[in-house]
Amino acid sequence: MIISVVSGKGGAGKTTLAASIAHVLEAEFYDLDVDAPNAEYFLQPDFDRETAIVQPTPIFDEDRCDACGICTKECRFNALYKILNHVYLTEPLCHGCGLCEMVCPQQAISYQDSPVGVIRSGYSQRLKNHVHVGDLAIGSTRGTYLISEMVKKIAPDKLSVIDGPPGNSCAAVAAIKPADLVVLVVEPSPFGFHDMQQTEQILIQMNKNYLIIANKALDEASVARFFSNREKKTTLVIPLESRYHKANLAGDILSRQFEEIHSGLQQALSQELAIQ
Ligand code: SF4
Ligand code: SF4
Repeated sequence: MIISVVSGKGGAGKTTLAASIAHVLEAEFYDLDVDAPNAEYFLQPDFDRETAIVQPTPIFDEDRCDACGICTKECRFNALYKILNHVYLTEPLCHGCGLCEMVCPQQAISYQDSPVGVIRSGYSQRLKNHVHVGDLAIGSTRGTYLISEMVKKIAPDKLSVIDGPPGNSCAAVAAIKPADLVVLVVEPSPFGFHDMQQTEQILIQMNKNYLIIANKALDEASVARFFSNREKKTTLVIPLESRYHKANLAGDILSRQFEEIHSGLQQALSQELAIQ
């Protein structure tokens, strides 16, 4: 079973709760927040493996290309465009699918590997399981590709927790895609609620089973304000408390330090996972 922890808005406490959920379940952990992975500060794995991820990128032989434009028309990601007699690549849009090479009548296209990032892996004593962290290469815009490559490595028969990227981008969707259950973390504020609703639309369209955790709640009224007129309610509300904040700053896993967080998460997930 794969659980993806996501949030429409950054700063809602997604990574904090992903680490706690993985700790409660002793699940394998995948940090797919590849632009800024930081779950390792809580999980403290001993990294012992590093895998480089590359993506094939088309290059063009100017001497062979007759600027017919076939490749630009066929690329379904609109990654290619032609100006005068030259074909150009918008690298962030390229998925390395290989179609342009296949359709080029002049055999003017070949591929070279472009670095996308690395996957670091190691065992966490705190988690009692393995941790895998995706690190996007500096300057690379291919986070979605790196996430998809990491997702391929997740064994569906094991219990795994994904810390997805914040927001509602293609990268977030790639982290949601493999999930059997999605935990949507919301900070009960106007911005947090607005962005949560956008993520919720994605989850509904993807037909995902999900539950909502409200984190950093000022009080019950602040949560009720947003959820009173909704059919889907919060499964768990975690209050905004300085002791949680201090534990975060110290790199502690909340569920490891606070019994109420441990039991709250266990209860929230128990219906879905049949754990007691
Ligand atoms: S490899 Fe695929 S996505 Fe990339 S430019 Fe060629 S056709 Fe487009
Ligand atoms: S299909 Fe080949 S020949 Fe035609 S524009 Fe593209 S690279 Fe040039």
